[in-house]
This record gives sequence, structure tokens and C-alpha cells, in this order.
Amino acid sequence: MLGSTSKNQEISKLFETVVDGGYCIGCGACAAVVDSPIKMKLDEYGKLYATLNEPVDKTSNQTSLGTVCPFSNEGLNEDQLAEEIFGKDCQYHNQIGYYLTTYAGFVNEGDFRKRGSSGGMGNWIVTQLLSEGLVDGVIHVKPCTPSPTDPRLFKYQISKTIEEVRNGAKSRYYPIEISEVIQMLREQPGRYVIVGVPCFIKAIRLLMKQDPIISERIKFCVGLICGHLKSIHFAEMFAWQCGIEPGQLLEFDFRKKLPDRVASQYAIKAVGWQDGQVIERISPVRDLYGWDWGQGFFKYKACDYCDDVVAETADIVVGDAWLPQYVGDSQGTNVVVVRNSILHNLIEQGITTGKLKLDHIDADEVARSQSSGLNHRREGLAYRLYLSDQKGEWRPPKRVQPQINHLSKQLQKRQYLRIQLAEQSHIAFKQAIDAKRFYIFVQRMSLLVLQYQRTYPHVPLWKKPFHNFKKFIKRLFFS
Ligand SMILES: Cc1cc2nc3c(=O)[nH]c(=O)nc-3n(C[C@H](O)[C@H](O)[C@H](O)COP(=O)(O)OP(=O)(O)OC[C@H]3O[C@@H](n4cnc5c(N)ncnc54)[C@H](O)[C@@H]3O)c2cc1C
Ligand code: SF4
Ligand code: SF4
Repeated sequence: MLGSTSKNQEISKLFETVVDGGYCIGCGACAAVVDSPIKMKLDEYGKLYATLNEPVDKTSNQTSLGTVCPFSNEGLNEDQLAEEIFGKDCQYHNQIGYYLTTYAGFVNEGDFRKRGSSGGMGNWIVTQLLSEGLVDGVIHVKPCTPSPTDPRLFKYQISKTIEEVRNGAKSRYYPIEISEVIQMLREQPGRYVIVGVPCFIKAIRLLMKQDPIISERIKFCVGLICGHLKSIHFAEMFAWQCGIEPGQLLEFDFRKKLPDRVASQYAIKAVGWQDGQVIERISPVRDLYGWDWGQGFFKYKACDYCDDVVAETADIVVGDAWLPQYVGDSQGTNVVVVRNSILHNLIEQGITTGKLKLDHIDADEVARSQSSGLNHRREGLAYRLYLSDQKGEWRPPKRVQPQINHLSKQLQKRQYLRIQLAEQSHIAFKQAIDAKRFYIFVQRMSLLVLQYQRTYPHVPLWKKPFHNFKKFIKRLFFS
């Protein structure tokens, strides 16, 4: 916390609003500003957050920290940033933002698809930029070795060869930050592409606006569609159920494909210490407690106050094609939104040469593939904003307006319980770690989980086959 000792109004404002309000996503943009007095730290709940270097530098005269923070009320919003970059050449869609073209499909070349979380497009795009000589380095999130002082399994790193990029494939639902890697970028001149979830890409765009070195060196931003970010404990929760206790994890794969299941029913792979030996465990994620992303275990509070699902400020965005016509393929399928003409040409060349197997789909179809995320961050967000405003608290400015009457009482309850579930999961897991008993976590969460499940229409067992058939028909004709 800042306290009253600092004379720097700018820092005080950022801390009193974003950080103390719990809206810090831990992106590290404020710590990446030249001479920033801020550093990134892991809290006791396994989340990264901004904190001040001790002792506080009272001479620091930083006036630009708030303008780079994706959650402060100082910087431009996603619409303003995106309009400046894409407004001239792209069409606009009110759920996915600007776009030149939209696709669904996968990489048909090498082992990109096999190694990727969905269709392999994320790593194919950055590899292509590197091999075509359009960039000298790829800034993305890769595995690292945990140590007693830093338990993190993943960090932003720079890959400069195709082999190094290859080892960076897969999604990391894990706390990461950009200040360390931005420092490396300052020290290593060159042209870079950066990969990130929407709020990180927004932060990069804001940094680029005020720092000529970053602006000159970052040539492309690749966005990942985002549901929400997780604390370190998300991976630890799964690993613990497989016999690897918190603090003992060495490697983690959040998205291991299972050949005999639909794409959404993937597995996790955990490697870690058990009784002095390194063990490896693989389990279908749905066999483990806490897999349901709707329940939002270990979600950052900031994610409940985010309205950008499809990385609206990125040059190109990739996500999962959660659509009935694609989800059956266990190997995974991407949705892709292209906003940059150079990347558009790369993709079209890839299709022509058979390296990519992509269908043109329309922007509404991309939005449909993310219907849960969009509902949560449109209708759900409007209600959460209403709740914050009722309490008279500071909260980040949003493009969505506060509202209450658009949701039924049951849907209001569901949103309320999601906030509670996320909040409680951090506390309950810490209690379980302290007690060295996983069941404590389940026990502390069970009532909220039950209440949450009850907000979904109850279907008696004997009606289930008919209900599922109705759902199938509805999906077939109306999705
Ligand atoms: C926190 C999070 C939430 C997500 N939520 C959704 C969602 O709700 N809906 C949806 O459709 N898709 C979501 N995604 C994206 C999805 O999981 C896949 O990453 C995406 O479909 C790309 O898969 P791929 O096979 O094309 O990528 P790959 O070929 O596996 O390449 C992924 C690239 O992204 C980089 N990367 C991985 N994790 C991160 C990270 N945390 N930050 C920055 N770079 C990273 C890797 O280093 C690699 O370069 C989410 C991703 C993350 C990280
Ligand atoms: S810039 Fe990022 S790390 Fe800094 S306060 Fe804002 S959200 Fe937190
Ligand atoms: S949900 Fe929004 S705030 Fe949370 S990590 Fe994703 S983009 Fe950032």
C-alpha cells in the first residue's frame, strides 16, 4: 500500500483505485514504465499484483503510470485504441470489434495443431512472422523452472528461433506479467511480435503510445480470446487431486488433447514431486473437482470488470471454435479474427498452399463461439457494475452501462454467486494449503457450488433424455 508518505499523486491515484480496489490484473504495464517505482509480486493467494519498491522513491516523478493501466480511468479505452489502429480499413461488429476477415479451422502443416491448445494457429502465426523475416523475436508465455523463491511455472519470454517458439505452444491459465520482458526488449533492439490476452494487449498498446522504443519495436500484437485469468492455485488444485501437493509442481499442461473425446473434454498433465520422486499424472479435466469455468474458481476480480473478450486492440486474435460443427474434433479448432492486412495476406497464402485448413465464417458465428464469455461480460457485467455503484465504490470505467432489470432474479443470483465463488475459492484454497488437506477446500466451497448449481433449471432424471434431445434440436436449428 502506498500510505501518506509519497508525494507522488499519480502513484497514489493508481493504488487507491485499481490496486486497493482489487482490480489489478497483475499485467506489469505500470512496472514496465521507465524508472517506475513499482514492481510485481505474488500475493499469498497466488496472484500477481503491483506493489511499490521499498523504500519508496520519493523523488520519482512518474506521471504516466495510470495511462498505461488497462483498468485505470486515465488511459484510452478499447474502442478508442482500436478505432485509431483499425478504423480506416476494417468493419465493426459490436461483440468482436473491428475485423477484416473471420475464419474457423486449424493448421495443416507440421505438428502445430498437435502441440497447440486448439488448432495451433497461435504458434503458427508467430512462427510464420519469424520465418518470413517480418520480426526478429516472439514475446510469449513459456515454461520456466520454479525455485524456492519463485514458484512460477510460466513467464513471458523472448523466442528468437523457430525451435524456441515451438516450445512455447499451449495456453497458460496462469499469472504472468510483462515488466521483465519489456526490460529485455529495451535491451535487445529488434522487431517483435507479442502474444497476450485482451487486457495485456490493451496495456501494450497504451505503453506503445507513451514509449517510442516500445512503439518502434513491437510490430504485431497477437491476441488470445479470454474467458478469465487464474491464480497459480488453479494448476495446484488439479495437481493436488493427482497426488502432487502445492509447491511440488514442476510442469503443467492445462490442455492435453484426448483422442477419444470432444475438444472441450481435454485432460491436464501434471509433473511434480511425490515422496521424493518425480511423477507424471494425466487426468481428464472433467474427472477432477473445480474444472467448471462458469464457477470461476481462482478468477481475478479484475476479470469480472472486463468487457473485452476478443482482444479488440490486437492485430489478429485466436480462440477456440466452441461451435457444434467443430467441437466434435478432439484435435481442436480455432476461430480467427484478422484486423491487419499483412497478417491477412499471410493467412490467405497459408490457405492457398494448403498449410492452413480454414473456413470463412461470419463475425456473428465468431461471437456465437464465445456466447458464454460475452454474456458474462455484457449482461453479467452490467449487473455487477450496478452492484458496485450501489455500494458507492470506485470501479473501472467500462463500455457497458450499469443495469439491473435486464436480468431475472435467478440470473442476478447466478451473477452474485459467481462473484462469491471466485472470492471464496482464493481464501478456501489457502486454508486447505495451511491445513495440508485438500478436502477443506471442497468443504468450504460446497455450499456456494450447490447454490450456484441451483440457479440452473432443474431437470428431473426421468426427463433428462428428452431434455438433452430438445437441447440438441435447439442447437441444431437456432445456433
Ligand atoms: C487465460 C486464458 C483464457 C482463455 N480463455 C478463452 C476463452 O474463454 N475462449 C476461447 O475461445 N479461448 C480462450 N483462450 C485461448 C485458448 O485457450 C487458446 O490459447 C487459443 O485458442 C489458441 O490456441 P492455439 O492452439 O491456436 O495456440 P497455440 O499454438 O497453443 O499457441 C498459443 C500461444 O499463446 C501463448 N500463450 C499461452 N498462454 C499465454 C498467456 N497466458 N499469455 C500470453 N501468451 C500466452 C503461447 O506461448 C503460444 O505462443 C484463453 C487463453 C488464455 C491464456
Ligand atoms: S498496470 Fe497492470 S499491474 Fe499495474 S496496476 Fe494496472 S493492472 Fe495492475
Ligand atoms: S478476462 Fe479480461 S481482465 Fe481477465 S485476463 Fe482476460 S482480458 Fe484480462
